[in-house]
Amino acid sequence: MNEGEMLYIDGDWEAGERYETLYSPYDQEELARIPLATKAQVKRAIDSAHHATRTMKSLSAFERAELLSNVAAGFEKYDEQCAQILVKENAKPIKAARGEIKRTIETYRFAAEEAKRIHGEMVPLDAAEGGKSRLGYTKHEPLGVIAAITPFNFPFNLTAHKLGPAFAAGNTVVLKPASQTPLSGLMTARIFEEAGLPKGALQVITGKGSELGDLLVKDDRVRMVTFTGSVSVGKAIREKAGLKKVTLELGSNSGVIVDTVEDLDAVVERCVEGAFTYAGQVCISVQRIFVQDRLYHTFLDRLVEKTESLQIGDPAHENTDVSALISPGESERLQAWVNEAHEQGATIAFGGNKRGAVIEPTIITNADRTLSVNADEAFGPVVTVTPYETFDQAIAGVNDSAYGLQAGVFTTEIAKAFKAADELEVGGVIINDIPTFRVDNMPYGGVKNSGIGKEGVKYSTEEMSEIKFVSFKL
Ligand code: NAP
Repeated sequence: MNEGEMLYIDGDWEAGERYETLYSPYDQEELARIPLATKAQVKRAIDSAHHATRTMKSLSAFERAELLSNVAAGFEKYDEQCAQILVKENAKPIKAARGEIKRTIETYRFAAEEAKRIHGEMVPLDAAEGGKSRLGYTKHEPLGVIAAITPFNFPFNLTAHKLGPAFAAGNTVVLKPASQTPLSGLMTARIFEEAGLPKGALQVITGKGSELGDLLVKDDRVRMVTFTGSVSVGKAIREKAGLKKVTLELGSNSGVIVDTVEDLDAVVERCVEGAFTYAGQVCISVQRIFVQDRLYHTFLDRLVEKTESLQIGDPAHENTDVSALISPGESERLQAWVNEAHEQGATIAFGGNKRGAVIEPTIITNADRTLSVNADEAFGPVVTVTPYETFDQAIAGVNDSAYGLQAGVFTTEIAKAFKAADELEVGGVIINDIPTFRVDNMPYGGVKNSGIGKEGVKYSTEEMSEIKFVSFKL
């Protein structure tokens, strides 16, 4: 086991006063001793980020782009090491872990490009009666200190979605990674340090969100909180943040409609990927599938058949598809939801059992809309399948949710595609694919309980800057 990790504050690595042991979710191997930052260390982290705002603001667009390109190159250099961190601290199957690192590299590349595209516009002041002989323009300025609070499920790429745009726009950052995935946050800091980040521009503080969160969220020097995680924590942050900017990327119980298709096997394959990749611990995981009546039985048979072929087990094995949930508590919660569904008359068409730390990929039918497996965010390898008669019923089914992140629609009829695009109450409508589709330059963020604000590099960069207006009297 490691001697003990360090916090990254003001360009230096420093020890903690207290430590907590980090275990692997799959086999409970002891991975590292993680420092629990003290209040004084959090305060110094914010001091340092505040102090570095001048340096970051003075960097040219070219210099910010170079820095982020170097970071992308750093992730390329350490790609396998980063993937192995995900296998250990995250129980992410190695195939998916390598995929996340590839996306992380691309996210930082997009951020490097975005750094060069930030610009304002001329404002035609003379269009106003009193604006004759005046010239106006806008410029984008960095906000200053940004607190980034990240979840466990994509610890490299979702951190990249905060750090990349924040630095592209010239801000400084205090990062608080999830307690179960601190090693990825600290590795990210090492890569930034090697890439030539100015001292104090990034701090990584590890420890419990419930203890450290308020120190970040309530400090007046922090100008924005960018949070990805659960609804309850997100709402509490919004209430405490005062006049700071806040973006919240929260959960979902995403729905997909299978209406008319040319290649049912291809649709089934995508639904299996969407429901069970990383054991369903994806905010846009496929959780509720609505299938046209006449396709329902064939679809279900093929869904079960394809799910049977998934390999369950050790995330380090090259052929593993589904591994452990992030904690024993999470697998117990999900098992209880499946049991509840069964007791309330739903049919477990496949899976439904716990094997050690792993919940089997589970397919449920005849599940009432009010059951937790439908109404709440499962955040695990559980999917429900429900038949429908009319397309209106399918849209109503997807919209019957407290969440609204993304929805998928498989249809060969263009009018239905446009109708879905108009009527689905979500942040992103994905035609002819699952709601789990995401590439890192698209706008991404939900409505209802799924959050406020948009990510996707260009969109976060805008959120992370302030428009300043300048007027000249000529
Ligand atoms: P979480 O429990 O809400 O934790 C997220 C982060 O918040 C962690 O760093 C956590 O620290 C911290 N935190 C906890 N209590 C806090 C407090 N009182 N103040 C400030 N920060 C606090 O979420 P999670 O279990 O890691 O992630 C799963 C959730 O994230 C799911 O709901 C999923 O849908 C959502 N998610 C959304 C998106 C999206 O883009 N919309 C993407 C990925 C995940 P500790 O770990 O130390 O508690």
